[in-house]
Amino acid sequence: MAEPRFTYLDHAATTPMRPEAVEAMLPFLSERFANPSGSHRASRDARRALDEARDVVADCIGAKAGEIVFTGCGTEADNSAIYGTLRRSGGFAVCPANEHHAVLHVVEHTGGRVVGVDAVGRVDLDSLAQALEAPGADTDGDSGGGGQVSVVSVMAVNNEIGTIQPMAEVSALVRRLAPNAVLHTDAVQAACWLDLATITPLVDLMALSAHKFGGPKGVGVLWMRPGVYIEPLLQGGGQERDRRSGTHNVAGIVATATALALTHAERASAITRIAALRDRFVDGLQAQLRGVRETVDREHKIAGSAHLCFEGCENEELLFMLDEQGICASAASACASGAMEPSHVLAAMGVPRAWARGAVRFSLGTTTTDADIDHALTAIPSMVDRLRAGRQGAMAS
Ligand code: PLP
Repeated sequence: MAEPRFTYLDHAATTPMRPEAVEAMLPFLSERFANPSGSHRASRDARRALDEARDVVADCIGAKAGEIVFTGCGTEADNSAIYGTLRRSGGFAVCPANEHHAVLHVVEHTGGRVVGVDAVGRVDLDSLAQALEAPGADTDGDSGGGGQVSVVSVMAVNNEIGTIQPMAEVSALVRRLAPNAVLHTDAVQAACWLDLATITPLVDLMALSAHKFGGPKGVGVLWMRPGVYIEPLLQGGGQERDRRSGTHNVAGIVATATALALTHAERASAITRIAALRDRFVDGLQAQLRGVRETVDREHKIAGSAHLCFEGCENEELLFMLDEQGICASAASACASGAMEPSHVLAAMGVPRAWARGAVRFSLGTTTTDADIDHALTAIPSMVDRLRAGRQGAMAS
């Protein structure tokens, strides 16, 4: 049997590397291998490449080179921002309930406050205001959470449902109610869709991850506003001006800069093209199938996001069938003791359990083509029909 057409609709999980980024990194995996922290000519060459990459990244996000800290991944950038602030300043952290676990788990682990979100996944500004205004010192002394709020973390774009957070409103609220707190944003899912230079003026810390915008896995960026200080997570050689020790991944960082520059330059045209593909995909499915619900309306989310709930389907079964047809997508449900639990993101939004069971995240990106959408539109309706028929048959017997 012929292999099914490979159709990658999982760009929120990771993106294919841009060929230009692969090309850019290769010399640093071979002849230009030196450690940029040394003093000889080979090291100076690597150092120059590192400095150039830092300039490019800074330019793309409207910052200065000295404000960029390269990390080992987006998770590390998020952890550094929150743990790093708490260790330096004490107090506690606040975040919305639908953050990525790289933020949510840190906030929970340190006894911070988790606030609600609305039906489209945007942070509930009233709940946020309450958490900022009435911190209520924790007196048991063992779980953190005492004193003042020192860091607020709100993601720019949600990784599961694609919701864009109202960062300007969040920023204004935090500045007004908690002027001493730093505002961190996990912008890992934003780089392809939002001009990051419009976000940096609103926040103090921002995390990025190269593999979400056509760069390599294993490179993160933490942007730090001048005057904001964190306690570093890693102690060692004092690289990155003592903010992140560890020998630089020069090849990865050079490729990151190349990928980010291309993403930045092509963002507007990519969004127009990808939004049209996404709309054709979702409209096409809804025209062929009843009971397909878009979790978040298009006005509130990024162009590449098509998070859909298929009524009467189990997402695990649907993902299996999609995979058999060469279509890569994902769901964020965790199977706990045999019972499918809706993801924390859908649960926080109050998506009914019956819908959440059939939730699938399709995410489009720069490599998505019309042929991908044609294949998905041809393959998916019959899968959904078969799953629903099987379920009705099982219920009847
Ligand atoms: N934050 C968000 C919103 C993400 O989507 C991801 C990755 O899925 C991360 C953080 C973690 O990034 P990394 O995979 O580079 O650790």
